[in-house]
Amino acid sequence: MNLTDLALQRAEVSDLKEFQVREGLVPSGKEDVLTMQRLAPYLLGYDRYMIKPGDTYYSLAKTYGTNVPCILMANPNGDPNRLIPGEYLNMPMHFPVVPTTIPMTSELMQLCIQGLIVRYPFLLHHTLAVTKYGRSVPVLHMGLNDRAVLYNASHHANEWITSTILLKFLEDYAYAVSTRGKIFGVDALTLFRNSQLYLVPMVNPDGVDLVTGAIATGSEQYLAAQKIAENYPDIPFPDGWKANLLGVDLNLNYPADWDTAKEIKFEQGFTSPAPRDYVGSAALDQLESVGMVEFTSLVNPILTLSYHTQGEVIYWKFLDKTPAGAEAIGEEFAQVSGYKLDDVPYASGFAGYKDWFIQDYQKPGFTIEAGLGENPLPLSDFDSIYEKNIGILTLGLQLP
Ligand SMILES: [Zn+2]
Repeated sequence: MNLTDLALQRAEVSDLKEFQVREGLVPSGKEDVLTMQRLAPYLLGYDRYMIKPGDTYYSLAKTYGTNVPCILMANPNGDPNRLIPGEYLNMPMHFPVVPTTIPMTSELMQLCIQGLIVRYPFLLHHTLAVTKYGRSVPVLHMGLNDRAVLYNASHHANEWITSTILLKFLEDYAYAVSTRGKIFGVDALTLFRNSQLYLVPMVNPDGVDLVTGAIATGSEQYLAAQKIAENYPDIPFPDGWKANLLGVDLNLNYPADWDTAKEIKFEQGFTSPAPRDYVGSAALDQLESVGMVEFTSLVNPILTLSYHTQGEVIYWKFLDKTPAGAEAIGEEFAQVSGYKLDDVPYASGFAGYKDWFIQDYQKPGFTIEAGLGENPLPLSDFDSIYEKNIGILTLGLQLP
């Protein structure tokens, strides 16, 4: 399923022609400019609606399948008692912005961000880094307190399902704040007042686009990756790809005993750019890892969660370093998720983001290995994975 298919599904039509007929367009069955314009709200999750005489927020909520609090939220400068015909409103569509039925590519992530910041204007966003291939690594944040927590996902390309986990959580949390509701039984507005959530949903957009097929077979970027992969014929291509497109495993690129990581991985045969497990030519020689380190020092989080797949395990130590409070928090995470709190296997115990964070900040930093099976985990697993992680994601804002 591609983006157009997703839009058509959300528009509840079976194909482009049916959509065009419904919209009064020429039923060409082609993705022409006008058709794509009309389909855009079904990707962004909101419509620009021109007010007509007699409209009320209540009647519009019924038409759009949304509710008045969400319209109020998406139009912070609008006056619900004085709708002026001819002026425009942002109308939230009847479905969530973040899809969980289609692989999360960098393009889809950007569409989600565009939609989320309109529907929830208290969400702010920045670019943390731009990759060698020109893709942005975005960061979103929300909250009224400077008690920062930082969640990140998709350091590893074939673990892109973790990007969907974080974006869906962000949307569920933002929705709960807008409607004065709860998330995982916790009052969302209280969380919002007491914390600042920083979310980096996709640390490795280049790699994610390779594994999800967003980078076309035979394109220059695809061929560059394929050439790297040829040296490692035992690793399935592109499904086994974890690195960025330069062949560096970003979660082995942090200055936390990087030399030991290098020794271990070189011994395993990863001595040059590879689909996974190549540590780079030096710690922090990649734009994505540098971006993460610089941003972390800027916001100074009191807790970090790094999302990976798979294993249903939570890692909380770096070597013998055990930050104060980390074990108790890890035990709570284990309890709400059913995941196991564990020690990292020695061979993967160095140069990761969590390792670096624990070493430099001496604060709780966790790697969450979500899901079970073989990467990339299928989206059919998404709901059950999310169910197990929503508690961790919520408590992360509350506990430290
Ligand atoms: Zn991973």
